[in-house]
Amino acid sequence: MPLMTGAQYIESLKKVPIEVYALGERIADRTEHPLIRPHVNAAAETYNLAHDAKFSDLGVATSNLSGQPVNRFTHIHHSAQDLVTKVKMLRLLGQRTGSCFQRCVGFDAMNALYSITFDMDKAKGTQYHGRFRDYLKFVQDNDLMPDGAMTDPKGDRSLAPSQQHDPDQYLHIVERRQDGVVIRGAKIHQSGAVNSHEVIAMPTRALGPDDKDYAIACAVPANAPGMVYIFGRQTNDTRKIEGGFDQGNASYGLVGGEATVVFDNVLVPWERVFLAGEAEYAGPLVERFAAFHRQNYGGCKSGVADVVIGAAAALAEYQGVEKAPHIRDKLTEMMLLSETLHACSLACSSEGKPTPSGAYVVDYMLANITKQNVTRYIYEIYRLAQDIAGGFLATMPSERDLRHPRVGPFVEKYYRGAGEVPAEYRLRLGRLLENMTCSIAPVESMHGAGSPQAQRVMILRQGDLEAKKRLARKLAGLE
Ligand code: SF4
Ligand code: FE
Repeated sequence: MPLMTGAQYIESLKKVPIEVYALGERIADRTEHPLIRPHVNAAAETYNLAHDAKFSDLGVATSNLSGQPVNRFTHIHHSAQDLVTKVKMLRLLGQRTGSCFQRCVGFDAMNALYSITFDMDKAKGTQYHGRFRDYLKFVQDNDLMPDGAMTDPKGDRSLAPSQQHDPDQYLHIVERRQDGVVIRGAKIHQSGAVNSHEVIAMPTRALGPDDKDYAIACAVPANAPGMVYIFGRQTNDTRKIEGGFDQGNASYGLVGGEATVVFDNVLVPWERVFLAGEAEYAGPLVERFAAFHRQNYGGCKSGVADVVIGAAAALAEYQGVEKAPHIRDKLTEMMLLSETLHACSLACSSEGKPTPSGAYVVDYMLANITKQNVTRYIYEIYRLAQDIAGGFLATMPSERDLRHPRVGPFVEKYYRGAGEVPAEYRLRLGRLLENMTCSIAPVESMHGAGSPQAQRVMILRQGDLEAKKRLARKLAGLE
């Protein structure tokens, strides 16, 4: 099947209706609802990119399974260059959407499962890798978007999954049958879940021998019986229902359209089960997925930061302060921070190494450094953008006021920019910056791909303190 365009992707979603709710109501068509459509548009750009001749090296890759061209978001990395290209692709899409385009989660889930199932089969004689390759071929041949579902609700965080008062706080196997497993639980904050074709579930943490039933990785169609989606609220989300430029980023929305995904006794046939009970492989799978997803953040977020920096610079121009030394210095600082994030992503990719399966993984240490830096630098970039833009970000009148016969002329007069810049230009850029910096977007940079402490645990583990101590002792003449 030829690679889908964005429009064909949207059409394909219409053919697979899911049980999704938002603001207390069931949504009939997930592609047309104003709360969801901008996120659908953002994901559609990952499909359009594959048809963009100028960037075909980014958007298209060659499948190691079929030798055919596939959308890069369904490709298994087979070189460090593949990993570098991924980062460049994410930055470009961040620039185009100013948002999260969501397709990386399934991409990273597939890359993590590919090599981990290989390792598992080799060590334990299981049959997971062959099954997973068949599934990957199905995804590639049909150019599907699987959602990668990892984060469980977790209940009491001080207790292991099997110790929870409510066993469903972590997704788990409730029944093993001849035709498959039945699973129950939920995955929360799932970017792109409501506009995916498939859902790939994985454990969210390392598991012990008592947690075998929680060691489940599998794929289900998004509309499998028992799959229920509850769309998350976002800052100012009802502005999407109002329409107009008060939405900020009207075409592509804000972050990834996250949802709570409920698995209400879902039957998964064995051919779609890639881990069922091998608890010792949950930790390695989570770490590998997390490393791939942390690699991304200096790609997509530097792309989004390019838009924020551009908006701040354009606003400075409209406000007549573009030549002020402190403004130029702030813009310089924003670029320094953004390019540092990008450099981290490129570094962990260039240092990628092959696994026994032949697929490549990023450097874990540098990938975790990338994401940890995002949890700080993005906030600083947004802080500087707000500083440059001015307080009107938090107080400006609405588009309806601008269009109102009585107060519109006042809004036009008092929000006009330097020279002949109309009020609408300032207000539009102000709304874009409000949407991108004053809303839930920074929270996504903090907790997406794992909270900061999760990276710090990995950094300490990867950092080999003992080797560093030996270096010091040697120079001090102690060894
Ligand atoms: Fe991809 Fe970035 Fe969105 Fe994660 S936050 S899914 S890496 S665009
Ligand atoms: Fe994310």
